[in-house]
Amino acid sequence: MSDCLFCGIVEGTIKANIVYQNDLVVAFNDIGRKAPVHVLIIPRKHIVGVLDVTLDDGAVIAEIFQVAARLAREFGIADSGFRVVVNSGPDSGQSVFHLHCHLLGGRQMSWPPG
Ligand code: AMP
Ligand code: ZN
Repeated sequence: MSDCLFCGIVEGTIKANIVYQNDLVVAFNDIGRKAPVHVLIIPRKHIVGVLDVTLDDGAVIAEIFQVAARLAREFGIADSGFRVVVNSGPDSGQSVFHLHCHLLGGRQMSWPPG
């Protein structure tokens, strides 16, 4: 989508600190880091959000979780623990409407989240 920030990152027209990519997903550091490790993992395909995921997206959704696990190990937070978050809609604070999974770790987190 031409006016989508994260499609711009996928296409390379918008700069990001990419930490991993393959044919299905791109992962990059969140510009507004909320934890020592804060990576966003996104599908290359423009999916607006959780409400728009279909069974046809099964492979890419699985890949997002596989990459989350891979990066958690790579960044040394697999054993200490981490959080995988997907915001959806106004109450959650979702601000970018291209599906993205936050991988957060490297500090103690509270529950329930704010
Ligand atoms: P959400 O609030 O769940 O929609 O998350 C959107 C996230 O995208 C926020 O944590 C922002 O800090 C992050 N973000 C916005 N613009 C950029 C960018 N250009 N590069 C990296 N992260 C970004
Ligand atoms: Zn997009």
